[in-house]
Amino acid sequence: MLCELLSSSSVLFNSLLTRLIKLTGIRTGLPLPSGWEMFWQLIVYFLIEDYTSYWVHRLLHSNWGYEKIHHLHHEYSAPMGFAAPYAHWSEILILGVPAFLGPALVPGHITNYWLWFVLRQVEAIEIHSGYDLSWSPTKFIPFYGGAEYHDYHHYVGRRSQSNFASVFTYCDYLYGTDKGYRSHKSIILRKMEETLERNGHRREGSYNSMTSQDFKSE
Ligand SMILES: [Zn+2]
Ligand SMILES: [Zn+2]
Repeated sequence: MLCELLSSSSVLFNSLLTRLIKLTGIRTGLPLPSGWEMFWQLIVYFLIEDYTSYWVHRLLHSNWGYEKIHHLHHEYSAPMGFAAPYAHWSEILILGVPAFLGPALVPGHITNYWLWFVLRQVEAIEIHSGYDLSWSPTKFIPFYGGAEYHDYHHYVGRRSQSNFASVFTYCDYLYGTDKGYRSHKSIILRKMEETLERNGHRREGSYNSMTSQDFKSE
């Protein structure tokens, strides 16, 4: 009896899922999408998710949003990869909307959905990893935030009104929410230059290219 019930509910679930997939315009059969189709759809998904999650994240930094939901994700002021999905259950659900919005608005082949979610998760782990690797392929992506960018958001924590974007930097720039980050960065850079000058040597390059060795007398 139980087996029959489980089997019929599984058939019902499968048929509902198939109808839903057809309704949204998702392709599941052959032919597979071309490389070009996958490429431009992924860009669209990233841009839509980045823009909408920027505003959702800003709302989560309101007093109510932070106290009730977002404070959990900010328990780590210096995050590592595992901290990427560490958040209140409702935050996972809320941020799922921007992630599904792109595929819902621009439907494609289901393999591209899988790729989109894998890439987005890898990106989330990377920006929480604490490693700003100079050889990372993400260095070639225009306006990409990266680990150092999101680290600042966690470092400031509750008071943070900077660096809300999940992937790119253009939203924070356009809406003026990267001012704290930029002034913090310029202060660090100035201090580093002063230290280098005091130590009798000057080196060209960004502060990311400098090492703790340069400041060992500090
Ligand atoms: Zn936040
Ligand atoms: Zn985070």
